[in-house]
Amino acid sequence: MKVRLAGIVNESVNDGPGLRIVLFFQGCDHHCPGCHNPQTWSFSGGAEYEIDSLLDHLCDHPLIRGITLSGGDPFYQPEAAARIAANFHERGKDVWAYTGFVWNDLRNSSGSAWQELLENIDVLVDGPFLQEQRDLKIPFRGSANQRIIRVPESLQQNQIVLWNPRPQ
Ligand code: SF4
Repeated sequence: MKVRLAGIVNESVNDGPGLRIVLFFQGCDHHCPGCHNPQTWSFSGGAEYEIDSLLDHLCDHPLIRGITLSGGDPFYQPEAAARIAANFHERGKDVWAYTGFVWNDLRNSSGSAWQELLENIDVLVDGPFLQEQRDLKIPFRGSANQRIIRVPESLQQNQIVLWNPRPQ
């Protein structure tokens, strides 16, 4: 199985808590005005990687707390994103993901690939970037409409449970 990526950052402290690997998925149809990564919109841009080979080469030192699936939007490549996420859980790392879709649309979709991806994510930052709600002071989000959602708890309780940085 292959994944199309716009880029890889091996050590980031900006895309979730702790030191993280960030994969920027290539392809996004949300086209949010003011998007900081418009080069990720094309579904034919970036580069394709064999997932098994990619996973073998991603940094795996003990200080890495987890992986963040960003973009672009990983929900346009849900099977590939779920496989990568599952591998990082096997390594004992946590998984964050960013999407321009909103929680209810993902949760209520009949698509099994989206459900499988959700089940492999710990924390999801949802919703499009809205320029009029842009806020540089809020951590890990671009605009105030976006929510940081604890995915396992939200799936279990069938309602959105927000992530709070303190218990982490
Ligand atoms: S979802 Fe993210 S990558 Fe896609 S257009 Fe919106 S801000 Fe850009």
